[in-house]
Amino acid sequence: RSWAESGLPQPLLRTIEQVGYDEPSAIQRAAIPIALSCRDVIGVAETGSGKTASFVLPLLSYIIELPSLNEMTKADGPYAIVLAPTRELAQQIERETRKFCEPLGFKCVSIVGGHTHAEQSLNMQDGAEIVIATPGRLVDCLERRVLVLSQCCYVIMDEADRMVDLGFEDQVNKILESLPVTNIKPDTDDAENTQKMSKFLGGKDRYRQTMMYTATMPPAIERIARQYLRRPATVII
Ligand code: AMP
Repeated sequence: RSWAESGLPQPLLRTIEQVGYDEPSAIQRAAIPIALSCRDVIGVAETGSGKTASFVLPLLSYIIELPSLNEMTKADGPYAIVLAPTRELAQQIERETRKFCEPLGFKCVSIVGGHTHAEQSLNMQDGAEIVIATPGRLVDCLERRVLVLSQCCYVIMDEADRMVDLGFEDQVNKILESLPVTNIKPDTDDAENTQKMSKFLGGKDRYRQTMMYTATMPPAIERIARQYLRRPATVII
C-alpha cells in the first residue's frame, strides 16, 4: 500500500514526498486510516517502527482541515498536545513533527524540563499549533496559566506505560480533565456523525480525538483507556 491510498490530504502527501519517506511503515499503514476516520486509537508499537509519523500525520491532517482555523487565535492555545514520558522522547517527537510542520507553515514547541520559566514563556509567546510536553511540565504551565488548552481537541499519549511507570498518572489525568471536550454524545456515536462532528469546532459540541501508544497494558493504562478513549481501535504491530 502506498501513501496515496492512506487518505491523507494532498498538502501532506506532497510534504511526505519532500521529506523522502517512500512508503508507509506497517504501523503507519494500520493506524493512519483509522485515525483519519476520527476513531480513537491504541497503538502498540516500538520505537523504530515509524510510530511518531503514524500519529503526527493524522494530527496534521486534522489541523489542515480545521474549517475555522483562521478564526481561532493563538491565545487560545494549541490545537493538539502530544504527551511523552521524558524530555528526550519529547524532543525526538518534536524533531519528527518539525519535518512535516515547517513546510506546511505550522509551529510546534516542546515543553520539557531543563528550561527556565522565562524561556518557556518566551517559547510559547508566538503560539503554536502543536505542543509536545512531559506531563509534569505541562501541568506546571497550566497552573501558572502560561498555557491554556481551550481549543485543544486532539491528544496523543506516547509511551503511556512509561508515563505511568514514572509516576505521571495523576498529571495525565489532570491534563485530560482540563481539556474543553470529553466524550461525544452517545446518540451520535457512529462513524459518519463522528466525522461531521470532528469538523465542527465552533459551538459547544466539540469533542476530542485521542491516540494512545503503549508497549504494555498494565491496569493503570487500561484505566486511562477506559476513562478517556472512546471505542478505541487497537493496532498491534
Ligand atoms: P519512530 O519509530 O517514529 O521513532 O521512527 C523511526 C525512524 O524512522 C525515524 O528516524 C523516522 O524519521 C523514520 N521513518 C518513519 N517513518 C518512515 C517512513 N515511512 N519511511 C522512511 N523512514 C521513516
